[in-house]
Amino acid sequence: MTQSDTTHEVFNQVEPLVDVNLFDGNRALQAALKFNAPAMDTAPLRALGQLVGSADMQTHARLANTFTPQLKTHSRFGHRIDQVEFHPSYHALMAAAVDAGLHGRVFAPEEQASGHAHMKRAAGFMLFTELEPSMLCPISMTYAVTPALKDNPAIYADWAPQLTSRAYDPALKLWREKPGVTMGMGMTEKQGGSDVRANTTRAEPVGSDAWGQRYSVVGHKWFFSAPMCDAFLILAQTASGLSCLFLPRVLPDGSLNGLRIQRLKDKLGNKANASSEVEFHGATAWLVGEEGRGIPQILAMGTLTRLDCALGVSGLMRQALSIALNHTTQRKAFGKYLIDQPLMKNVLADLALESEAATALSMRLARAFDRADDTHEQVMARLLTPIAKFWICKRGSHFAQEAMECLGGNGYVEESGEGIMARIYREMPLNSIWEGAGNIMALDLLRALRKADAAAALAQELAPAKGMHPALDRLAAQLPIRVEEMATELEARRLAQDVALAVQAALLAQTAPLEVFAAFCDSRIGGHWGYSFGSLNAATAFDRIIERAQPR
Ligand SMILES: Cc1cc2nc3c(=O)[nH]c(=O)nc-3n(C[C@H](O)[C@H](O)[C@H](O)COP(=O)(O)OP(=O)(O)OC[C@H]3O[C@@H](n4cnc5c(N)ncnc54)[C@H](O)[C@@H]3O)c2cc1C
Repeated sequence: MTQSDTTHEVFNQVEPLVDVNLFDGNRALQAALKFNAPAMDTAPLRALGQLVGSADMQTHARLANTFTPQLKTHSRFGHRIDQVEFHPSYHALMAAAVDAGLHGRVFAPEEQASGHAHMKRAAGFMLFTELEPSMLCPISMTYAVTPALKDNPAIYADWAPQLTSRAYDPALKLWREKPGVTMGMGMTEKQGGSDVRANTTRAEPVGSDAWGQRYSVVGHKWFFSAPMCDAFLILAQTASGLSCLFLPRVLPDGSLNGLRIQRLKDKLGNKANASSEVEFHGATAWLVGEEGRGIPQILAMGTLTRLDCALGVSGLMRQALSIALNHTTQRKAFGKYLIDQPLMKNVLADLALESEAATALSMRLARAFDRADDTHEQVMARLLTPIAKFWICKRGSHFAQEAMECLGGNGYVEESGEGIMARIYREMPLNSIWEGAGNIMALDLLRALRKADAAAALAQELAPAKGMHPALDRLAAQLPIRVEEMATELEARRLAQDVALAVQAALLAQTAPLEVFAAFCDSRIGGHWGYSFGSLNAATAFDRIIERAQPR
C-alpha cells in the first residue's frame, strides 16, 4: 500500500499517451501526403510513427532535456578541447533521426529518384518533432546545407557520402574517418542577426588548395547552435564583402581548427540542443560560392531551415493537440468527461482546425522543393516559405498555451508524461525567432511578391477552391489585387496572414472533410470567430472535427 492509499484514493488522473503510432493517428498528415504525393509508400513513415510514439524513445527525450549539454573548454591537462558533452539519450535520439534520413539523406541520388524525397522527409520531421524538437536543430541544418554547399563542388564531393549516410557518429575527428557527419550555420553576431550586413568577422585569403580559396577567419558568432557539428557554413567579411565560408571543426591534417566555444546559452527551452557563443582564432575556412555574395549563398540553406520551422511548429501543434485530446477524453469534471463539455469541444475543435491547417500548409510547401523544375512550384517555394514560417510560427505559442490549459494544472508541471506540455510551450517561440523573426519574414514576403508572376501564381493556387465558400471567394478575389498593388512595410504582417489563411483554406478544400473546411473558412476568414481559441460558432460540426483529430 502506498502512502497516498492511506489518506485518499487516486482517481480521475489520465493514462499518458505512450506506445501509440503517431503516423496512424495523424489523419491530417495522411491527407496531406495523399494530396501532395499520392504515389508515396508510407510504410517507412508508419514505422517511424511507431518508433517516435514509443515509451522508450519518450524516455530518451525526457532524459536529453533533463541532463542538458555541458561545455568542456579544456582537458584536465589544460589543453583546449572545446567539446560539448551530451547525455547518452541525446545521442540515441540523434542516431534515430539520422537513421530515419531526416538530415542530408534527402540529397542521396536514390532518394531524389523518388520525386518526393523532401515530402517524405518533411512528414518524418513532423513526426520526430512530436518526440523531441530541440535535437532536430543540427538535423535540420544538415538537411538544409546541401543546396548552398554544392556551390563548392570539391568540398561537396568529399563530404557528400557522410552527409547522406544513415550513420551517426558524435566523435570529434576527421570527417573521412567518420561514417556520418552533421553541419551547422553561423551568421548571427552580437551587433546584428537579422541585418547580417553588420557582421564584423573577417576572412583573409591565405592560399588555395583542392577545396579552392582558403581563408583565415578572425571574429565571433553570438548564436552558434550545435557546435559539435563537424563543419559549418559561416558568413565573414572579405575584400569583396560578406562571403559564405565552409569551416570544419577538424582540419584535413587532423588538427583542431581555431574555433573556441566561449559559453553555452542558458535558454528558455530547446534544452537538449547546445547553442553556443564562439570565437574564431585564425580558423581555416574555404569559400563557398562567389566572394561578396555570401547572403544569397547562405540563404539557400536558410530557405530549407525556414521550411523546417513551419514543419516543426506543425509537429508541436499536433503533439499538443493529441495530448489535450488524450487528457480530456479521460478526465472528468462536473459529472462529464471534459471532451463532452460543450465549451471544451469548442476549444478542442478550434485547435484541431489550426493544427490541420498548419500541417496542410507546411506539407504543401515541402512539395514545392520536390518540384524545383516546375515554374509554378518555384514561385510557390519563394512565396510560401516566408508565409508559412511567419504565420504557422506566430500561431504556435498561442496554440500551446491553449492546449496546455486543457490539462489544467497538470499541463503546467515539468514532470514526465504530462510535463511534455511545458516543453512544447517553451519550444514554440523559438521557431518564430530563429531563421528570420516574424517581421523579417513578412518583409521577405514583400520581396517575394515583386516577382512578376506572384499574383497569377497565387490565383492559380487558390483556384481549386473557387465557389466553395463565399468568404474565401471574396478574399481570393482581393488578394491578387493587393499583391499587384504591393503592400507597404506597415501592412506586411496583415498581408502575410491573409495570404496564409487563403492558401490554408484552399488546401483544406482539397484535403479535408467539408466540415473542417467550412469551419476554418467561417472562423478564420468569414469573421465568425473571437480572439481566443474556442470561439467557433455554435453551428460547427464539433464532434466530427474532434473525432478526425483523435490520436488513437
Ligand atoms: C536558441 C537560438 C539558437 C540560435 N542558433 C543560431 C545559429 O545556430 N546560427 C545563427 O546564425 N543564428 C542563430 N540564432 C540567432 C537567430 O537567428 C537570431 O536571433 C535572429 O535571426 C534575430 O536576430 P537578432 O537576435 O540579432 O535580433 P535583431 O536582428 O536585433 O531583431 C530584433 C527584432 O527586430 C525585428 N526587426 C529587425 N529588422 C527589422 C525591420 N527592418 N523592420 C521591422 N522589424 C525588424 C526582428 O524581426 C526581431 O523581432 C539562434 C537564436 C536562438 C534564440
